[in-house]
Amino acid sequence: MTTRFFIKAPLASSTHVDLDDAIKTKIALQRLEYYKAPGYGMTPYPDAQLFDAVSDLQRDKGMRTTGEVRPGDDTEKAIRTALDTNSSGASARAENEGKYIWRTRGDSKVRSEHAERDGKVFEWNNPPEGGHPGEAPNCRCRAEDLDANDSICKKSAIDIQRKIIDVETFRIELRSFRENYLNHAQDFTDAESHLLSKITEAAIPDIPDDVSDIRAWLRAALSSAGKLLMLEVIASAWDGRRAARNAMEIARKSYEDSRRRLTDARMELSNLERKHRAKCI
Ligand SMILES: [Zn+2]
Repeated sequence: MTTRFFIKAPLASSTHVDLDDAIKTKIALQRLEYYKAPGYGMTPYPDAQLFDAVSDLQRDKGMRTTGEVRPGDDTEKAIRTALDTNSSGASARAENEGKYIWRTRGDSKVRSEHAERDGKVFEWNNPPEGGHPGEAPNCRCRAEDLDANDSICKKSAIDIQRKIIDVETFRIELRSFRENYLNHAQDFTDAESHLLSKITEAAIPDIPDDVSDIRAWLRAALSSAGKLLMLEVIASAWDGRRAARNAMEIARKSYEDSRRRLTDARMELSNLERKHRAKCI
């Protein structure tokens, strides 16, 4: 900012302020790290953050904290002096200074000239045709602070990196859960065929799945077939099959949970990437 800081009219929350003064003061106080744009971004309209920033500066300079700036007063002078001594500020900040990103609401009601400006960078002291965001009649667009965008985008890049690691972890995890499930499924198949071969050998009917006392059931079935000696062999084969099935079901559930985690993480990753592409320039 090479132009020195002067305002045209009183800047106070109780008066109708000049919009050029308001934006100029916001940019100056942002550069001095007093003003922080509200969540919806920097606008040419006065906001509470602006008057708070003025008060903070006045407090720091040992002045009366009125939250107001008037042409030619000590506060205006203090801002000007602070800017002059601060002119060797960080270059990234200087680069973003006085600029904003045009943001539309992104819906079908956005006029096409504004839709074309979405995501592009403009300068506060060089308004595009029709004015800054929110100035044209019924315009619902807003200006997004470039520094805020930088830090949001840095954060979202980190979030994406983390999510990529999650996806990779879940992918490896899924492979081992799948292998575990297939092993248990094989165990179950083996246990089942072992049981079936014993049932065939003993020449008894198939055992119902819901039998509550397997040994009592077998005693009745085997005594009529004259094969009571096989009771314990078949009973433990039946127990073994039931245990193998339970283990297989648990492994299947872990496998499905793991697959869901991977699917969710992949979806979250693509959402993060889409938002990042839309927001970050
Ligand atoms: Zn608009």
